[in-house]
Amino acid sequence: MKTAGILSIGTEILRGYTLDTNANFLAKFFKDLNIQTILTATADDGLDSIMHGLDYLRQCDIIVTTGGLGPTEDDVTRDAAAAFCGRKMSRDPAMMQHIMEYFTARQWQIADSNWRQADLIEGGQFIPNPNGTAPGQFVLNGSQMIIILPGPPRENHPMILNSLPDILRKYGFTDGVLLNKIYRIYNIGESSLADAVKDFDFGDHIVGYYFTEDARVELHISRFANDKNEVLDPTMLHSIEDIFNNLGWFWTDDIPLREILMKRLLDSRQTIAFAESLTGGAVSADFTLTPGVSAVHKGGVVSYTDEIKHRILGVSQDALDRYTAVSEQTAAEMAAGLRRLYNTDIAVSLTGIAGPDGGTEETPVGTVCFGFAVGESVTTARFVFSGGRDRIIKKAINCAYIELLKIMKIK
Ligand code: AMP
Ligand code: MG
Repeated sequence: MKTAGILSIGTEILRGYTLDTNANFLAKFFKDLNIQTILTATADDGLDSIMHGLDYLRQCDIIVTTGGLGPTEDDVTRDAAAAFCGRKMSRDPAMMQHIMEYFTARQWQIADSNWRQADLIEGGQFIPNPNGTAPGQFVLNGSQMIIILPGPPRENHPMILNSLPDILRKYGFTDGVLLNKIYRIYNIGESSLADAVKDFDFGDHIVGYYFTEDARVELHISRFANDKNEVLDPTMLHSIEDIFNNLGWFWTDDIPLREILMKRLLDSRQTIAFAESLTGGAVSADFTLTPGVSAVHKGGVVSYTDEIKHRILGVSQDALDRYTAVSEQTAAEMAAGLRRLYNTDIAVSLTGIAGPDGGTEETPVGTVCFGFAVGESVTTARFVFSGGRDRIIKKAINCAYIELLKIMKIK
């Protein structure tokens, strides 16, 4: 098994302004290629610091750096990597042409310093960067491979995923392919998932759980194979899916719930709108991340106060007084009211208490009531989510999608 070392470069990381997410992303990436990350380091932008960092990682078969590839004089990763391998650099005409075209297409002025991004370490090759001006590069330093990448995650993540596997395979730093199946599981805790699969026989598969930012768990089941046409054991996958289904957890392949919902709405030619209280528009914003959403998403109402729930959505004063704003009754009237108001096929409402204050014994922090107006029929649901304000809102978003998808499935 080959080893990897990761060097994150950037003074901003060492000042505490930027959290080093590149190293984390690369560590996961290497794990999936059966490459063992053994060291990570962070260096400020100085040439000496970068040289120290490279030296610290010298025993690794693969060294990857991120950052310090900008056009300005203080971006010296290229120089440091060249010096580390004892190579010169030369300005690459094809890359100069590319930079020229990139700038011209955007009607940007090219500064003299921009040409530095066309400097290639002797014997190295460029790694294209479709999302920025700084290309990456890799060079073989004896039996070691050195890869330098730009710092911004939105630039280097696609470069890592799209270019590195082939480069690493071609030069013998990883063999075989990783067969990987990802299940996205919603609204469960770590311990419940661990409990549910603890007696399950995964054979020689690699199994990992990852708790994501948006309050779901990903279960990764993977195995190395010599041939990409091999598959994961379908019997094993079926059995694990049975467990999830029996426990009532909604799982899918590696697609966000919002995209599943959008597709189902498109297929059934239905429109939707969201009436939101505790999520403050977060459901609408999340749903809008799906390209092409305008075909199905008519809009939303953020009805934070009782007054707006009553005046705009037509929630009855009686429901608000008798059952309070956080009740299934209010949620039902919010959804029905918005569906009428926006003339959609479906309206979904959320009202709840994201905390940290405002909870009572009957309605604790984390309580969320949902209303689903699908045609003339209105159903409701009530859940109590754990976690801080942010997690509760994220769980509420997931739950709104899941519950609606369940309702649409039966219809
Ligand atoms: P650079 O390629 O050094 O010019 O990086 C530019 C920007 O990328 C920085 O200002 C950060 O916002 C981001 N960045 C750089 N390194 C990292 C890192 N290790 N993790 C996350 N973001 C980073
Ligand atoms: Mg930098």
